[in-house]
Amino acid sequence: MKKEVPKWNTEMKEISPGIYAYIQATGGWFINNAGLIVGKKDAIIVDSLANAKRAKSFIGEIKRVTDKPFSYLINTHHHTDHTWTNHLFQAKTICHTRCREETVKEMKIDPELYLGIFPGLDVTGAKVTPQDITFEKNLTIYQEVEDGMREIRLIYAGPAHTVSDVFVYLPEEKVLFCGDLLFAEPCTPFALMGSISGYIRALDLLADLDADIYVPGHGPLSRREEIYKAREYLVFVRDEARKRFKEGVNAYDAAKSIDLGVYKGWNERERIVGNFERAYSEFRGELPGADLPDLLDIVMRMMEYRGEMKGQS
Ligand SMILES: [Zn+2]
Repeated sequence: MKKEVPKWNTEMKEISPGIYAYIQATGGWFINNAGLIVGKKDAIIVDSLANAKRAKSFIGEIKRVTDKPFSYLINTHHHTDHTWTNHLFQAKTICHTRCREETVKEMKIDPELYLGIFPGLDVTGAKVTPQDITFEKNLTIYQEVEDGMREIRLIYAGPAHTVSDVFVYLPEEKVLFCGDLLFAEPCTPFALMGSISGYIRALDLLADLDADIYVPGHGPLSRREEIYKAREYLVFVRDEARKRFKEGVNAYDAAKSIDLGVYKGWNERERIVGNFERAYSEFRGELPGADLPDLLDIVMRMMEYRGEMKGQS
C-alpha cells in the first residue's frame, strides 16, 4: 500500500517571539524555506528564493509582521534557489567564503539554462548576485532586541549538502535555521555537490545542539527527530552504495537497482542517483566535495531516473 505523503502549506510562522520561518509547499526542487529575525531596529533575512514571484510573496508576508528595514541577508549556501533573488532584498548579503566562490562561478550560467533540466521552472527575476560579506569558520551577529542583544551564530558545517553550508543558530531561543543541511521528511536529502560522510557529521552536530525548532531548507518545520531521519537516509545511501561499489557495479546501475524501502514514499527520490555518485567519489578516495567532472551528465541521469519512476508508484 502506498504510504501517505504528509502535506503542508506555504506560510510564514512565528516560531519564537520575533523569529519567523517561511515554509514553502511542496519543498521540491527549487522550493526552499527561508527565515526572518526581527530586532528592535532591523530585520535579518535567512535565504532568498528562486524567482521574483516567490520573493515577492515572502516580502509581502514580512511586511505583514514588521516594517523594520532589512540589515542583513544570510545565504546558508550557494544553491540558486537560496540566492537567485538576493537583489530583491535591500540588505547586505553574508555567506561563507566558499559560498561566494561558488556564487561567482554561477554568474557564468544564465538561469534560463536550468530550464533544459527542469522544464516548467519559473526563473523570472532570477539573477546571480555575489555576496557582500564572507567569513571562514564562524560569525556571530548581535542584534538589538527590546531586552538586550540577540545572538545569531553562523556556523560553517561543510562540505555536507554542498561545500558551502552554514547553519544559523540562535542559542537563547533554541532555534536552528538549517539551510539544506536538513531536508525534512518527506523531502529526500541531496549530497551530489557535497559529501555523504560530511553530511552525516553535520547532522550529528545539529542534533547535538540545544535546539527545539529546526527550520529545514526544504520540507515542513521540524524537531530533532527529522534530523535523525535524514541521517538514517544518508547512512542507508552510504552502506548500500558501498556494497555495490565493492561488487564493481557502476553508480547509476547501482542506484537504479536498489530497493529504496521506506524512502520510496519520499519526494524527489531520484536524488538517489546523485547521492550514489557522491558516495562513489568518496569510496574512490576523492576529497569531500571534490568537483565531479561529469556533474551535468549525472544530473541528466537523475532526471531520467525521475522520468522512469513516474507511473511506477
Ligand atoms: Zn541546496
